[in-house]
Amino acid sequence: METAYIGIGSNIGHKIDNCKMAISLMGRLAGCSVRLQSPFYRTEPVGVEGQDTFVNGVVSLDTVLSAVTLLKHLLKIETDMGRVRRKKWDARIIDLDILLFGAHIINEPHLIVPHPLMQLRRFVLKPLSQIAPDVVHPVLRRSIRELAGVLSEDGQAVEIYERS
Ligand code: AMP
Repeated sequence: METAYIGIGSNIGHKIDNCKMAISLMGRLAGCSVRLQSPFYRTEPVGVEGQDTFVNGVVSLDTVLSAVTLLKHLLKIETDMGRVRRKKWDARIIDLDILLFGAHIINEPHLIVPHPLMQLRRFVLKPLSQIAPDVVHPVLRRSIRELAGVLSEDGQAVEIYERS
């Protein structure tokens, strides 16, 4: 059994309902249980211009699945919820990322864990620090609280949207 942390984001349609639906679908996956859920945040799009704001949150998932199998299920949830992949950084109904998978370091062609951009993203670190402040990033060897504390707020506004 491993604890995985999953980043959730939506910036199309009823964003918070999209995030809640994804959490509900993750909870129904065989071999997975949702344990902790962060509040939701309204966040400024990072790395793109002219897109609507996002709603972001993070959940912890206890799972007996491998990380690769879990990713396949998460991609299927994205597709089932109507996500169409046109180009990288496109607006999305739902985006699910494996941020951490226990203390595993994974470098496979289609899966890199810890997520390679997580330490640069306030929309990840803010919610993650609410449910896993003392978890240590296995590559950077810093706690999530420490990583969140040193990240600049410039261009990355993150405000509370709804407590879960
Ligand atoms: P995006 O939806 O734009 O974040 O990209 C999703 C793609 O990134 C997937 O098809 C995965 O194969 C790949 N990927 C690599 N590492 C991860 C990860 N840690 N979590 C989710 N997707 C990942």
